[in-house]
Amino acid sequence: MNHGGTGFVYPLLMKKHYDAIIIGGGAAGLMCAWQAGLLGRRVVVLERSKKIGRKILMSGGGRCNFTNLYVEPENFVCPNPHFVKSALSQYTAWDFIGSVQAHGIPYHERDHGQLFCDDKARAIVDLLRGECEKAGVDIVTQCAIDKIYFDEPHGTYRLNTSLGDVASNAVVIATGGLSIPYMDPTPFGYDIAKQFGLNVLPVRASLVPYTFTGELKDMFARLSGNAIPAIINAGKHSFREAMLFTHRGLSGPVVLQISNYWHESDPIRIDLLPDVNLSNTLTAAKRSQPKSLARTIIAQLLPKNVVLEFEKLWWSELQDKPLADWPNTQIERVGTLFNSWEIIPAGTEGYRTAEVTLGGVDTNEISSKTMEANKQAGLYFIGEVLDVTGHLGGFNFQWAWSSAYACAQSLATKGA
Ligand SMILES: Cc1cc2nc3c(=O)[nH]c(=O)nc-3n(C[C@H](O)[C@H](O)[C@H](O)COP(=O)(O)OP(=O)(O)OC[C@H]3O[C@@H](n4cnc5c(N)ncnc54)[C@H](O)[C@@H]3O)c2cc1C
Repeated sequence: MNHGGTGFVYPLLMKKHYDAIIIGGGAAGLMCAWQAGLLGRRVVVLERSKKIGRKILMSGGGRCNFTNLYVEPENFVCPNPHFVKSALSQYTAWDFIGSVQAHGIPYHERDHGQLFCDDKARAIVDLLRGECEKAGVDIVTQCAIDKIYFDEPHGTYRLNTSLGDVASNAVVIATGGLSIPYMDPTPFGYDIAKQFGLNVLPVRASLVPYTFTGELKDMFARLSGNAIPAIINAGKHSFREAMLFTHRGLSGPVVLQISNYWHESDPIRIDLLPDVNLSNTLTAAKRSQPKSLARTIIAQLLPKNVVLEFEKLWWSELQDKPLADWPNTQIERVGTLFNSWEIIPAGTEGYRTAEVTLGGVDTNEISSKTMEANKQAGLYFIGEVLDVTGHLGGFNFQWAWSSAYACAQSLATKGA
């Protein structure tokens, strides 16, 4: 049924024409719908689950770290380092902050410029839902999409959905990644990319805690709940933030950050005392307090229970010997272990607890200005489904907002 414009709508679903169909009612999909609606486009969001914005609701420990004051292209992992620049400059952190302020949502800054809601993350979902309503966007939940066909002569995408068929000349894939299995994430976005001949890079869980086995797992479990500042390196990347011991291994912001750069079976190097050269400190203590035990000196720098565990691991044979009796080589060895401890995680906690999916639709296939597929006019990919992964700290939402905005500007240029 051709309604004469770009929109072709089949009954059962809606009785309207749509200039664009957005698949996925998460952060990126809702932002894109809002912005395209503002620009006069007739838009529908098709969301598979009962509720929109579910990841926003659980984000930032329930307070949604919705952006960051210091957004730079370097905060994103993407094999194509220039890809994020255009979208990030079209819609900046300050643009989103402006909307948060206009809605009177109280927020605060935490370390490293991270902005969180003072109250519940629901305020951000309400902002998006309210703006979509004002902009005349239709949001349809519990709508499963079975297939997308491309009607080449008309440049039209026809969708078979659980609520009927619908069509449009523009389809935006905003289906996110694979993390949090109980939310039933789908590889739909990757499958559609492949269907249209686009390359999809391998995906894996990221911003995710590490797991360990054997002696280290047992030790970390005994220390579970303790957090210390640390620097972790993987290859040439390094982060300094809090590290948390857990029942399964290591977590905390520094671990999540480095997981974006870690590959299975690679070693990581941990500095457990980022501001102290422990060999020098112990050598000086050997001179000034020769009767002291190493653990007494180190317990001035780290929690005592943490020191006792590392003592068992690294210098049990010397534990009751005063520093005066320590050979310099042992001081050097223990100092180096604390400042540059190399270990290989057994793995990660996987999608069960990961905040994001690394990998996805190859950005070389996508216009960085509009998010449209280079070789498939009218097909767009935004948000996490793309191979763009932000650092921890509000960058993943900023990518969702910015990529969605860039896409909406392009949708507005397509004649209805
Ligand atoms: C526990 C947790 C905490 C997080 N905290 C933060 C944070 O504080 N700050 C930050 O920046 N990032 C955070 N993130 C990451 C952030 O949530 C995501 O990067 C962001 O939501 C991605 O937006 P998106 O719209 O691309 O995908 P999503 O928000 O995941 O939305 C995708 C939507 O598509 C729907 N969908 C999937 N398949 C289909 C289909 N076949 N048909 C129709 N609909 C479909 C899904 O149900 C979902 O509603 C967190 C993630 C998790 C898991």
